[in-house]
Amino acid sequence: MSSQNVDMAVDEPAHWPEPPLPPPARSYSVPLYEPDLTVGYVYSAEMTNHYDSKEHPEDPKRITSIWRAIIKAEYHQRMKCIPIRPVKRHEALLVHSEDHWDKVLAIEHMTPQQIVDSSEYYEQLSLYVMQGTTRAACLSCGGAIEACLAVARGELQKTFAIIRPPGHHAEPDEHMGFCLFNNVAVGARVVQQSTDIKRILIVDWDVHHGNGTQKAFNDDPSILYISLHRYEGGTFYPCGPFGGLQSCGEGPGLGYSVNIPWSEKGMGDADYIHAFQKVVMPIAMEFAPELVIISAGFDSALGEELGECHVTPTGYAHMTHMLSGLAGGRLVVALEGGYNVEVTTKSAMAVLKVILGEPPDELPPLVASESATEVVWLAAKEQSKHWRSVDPKLCEPREEVEPITFSIPEILKAHRQYYLQSVHNMMTVPLLGDELNKKLSSQIMCTHDLFENDTMVVFAHELWDPLSLSD
Ligand SMILES: [Zn+2]
Repeated sequence: MSSQNVDMAVDEPAHWPEPPLPPPARSYSVPLYEPDLTVGYVYSAEMTNHYDSKEHPEDPKRITSIWRAIIKAEYHQRMKCIPIRPVKRHEALLVHSEDHWDKVLAIEHMTPQQIVDSSEYYEQLSLYVMQGTTRAACLSCGGAIEACLAVARGELQKTFAIIRPPGHHAEPDEHMGFCLFNNVAVGARVVQQSTDIKRILIVDWDVHHGNGTQKAFNDDPSILYISLHRYEGGTFYPCGPFGGLQSCGEGPGLGYSVNIPWSEKGMGDADYIHAFQKVVMPIAMEFAPELVIISAGFDSALGEELGECHVTPTGYAHMTHMLSGLAGGRLVVALEGGYNVEVTTKSAMAVLKVILGEPPDELPPLVASESATEVVWLAAKEQSKHWRSVDPKLCEPREEVEPITFSIPEILKAHRQYYLQSVHNMMTVPLLGDELNKKLSSQIMCTHDLFENDTMVVFAHELWDPLSLSD
């Protein structure tokens, strides 16, 4: 140490506390502190490299349009961008088989001719593929994982994954229905494996049953899967009994798959909210998840030709709001279906608004349809075997019975007629004219020998109304 340094040390003043620094100069438009963002999103235009050369409902515009609306509403300034990345092999294998992984990865290396030659095979599975498919599918799945991890690790409260291709039809061994990897299922499994969160609720409001997601967790009680979808006796895609009322999981997972299978198209806000209030939320509260993931398909929306249901953006907002109260507010929304670009965008924006902390818009007075009430009641009956909070009696459809009333004089008149007929063998005198008939029909009786006897005795019996006596 040089002598100069020693001198400087000696000259140092006593240890007074440092005065606080003055706030940096700033303009009014710049906040003093970094905004504490609690909501995040995942998005990449790279997922648009998967598209069909022919017109196809699963179109890249589904996500670009949502993204554009976010920019226009300046929501991106209120949300943190979560970097997207492709799913890793070991992550995909938490849900999918190795064969499945290899199958999806191989698509990238197909020649244009191989793609043409295989199109029939893929069409059978309601899929189209091209070179960009693998990358888009990997990013979509990786995006869902990152959206889930950001919430599960406590870095963010809520996230929205603007991703495609969708995932909920992709089964452990099979890609189908526009889906390559099951984004949400893989996201849930990665969370379970790499964080302390184990109990996860997945609510799927896509108009189709998420067969892939239910299959991935059918025997697993740690993941509760609840789906509301068109079913119509198992004739609506993906068809078969797996999306039915009685398909409630198996083995240790029995009771942890909940299907609310609509018996017809046209279900709207009143029907979905009725199902939420009577079945979805009671079960969700009893399950008490540590994380909620919404498989947000907007093909159940009003104006969506494919789903032909009537859920409005406000309806989706209310469902999101109800689910936001669970799991300490830890919520992930992942895009699934939704093929009318405008409708999907509006619906997604209504959900985003709620995620950003704004209340949902008001709904008009709602009454569930007869058909939805019936399905919710049947679902409640089925689920009450597994969940104590579900009370089918509270869901019983109300019989709208016309009140049947008889006045006492009418009952007495009917009895008198019956008595005279059965005991004294008297008969009713037919009357001429509608007016008379209406007023006195069945009230004028006579004996069979009316025309043979010289004498006719007439009894006139006027009935009083006993209720009028109080006057
Ligand atoms: Zn769908």
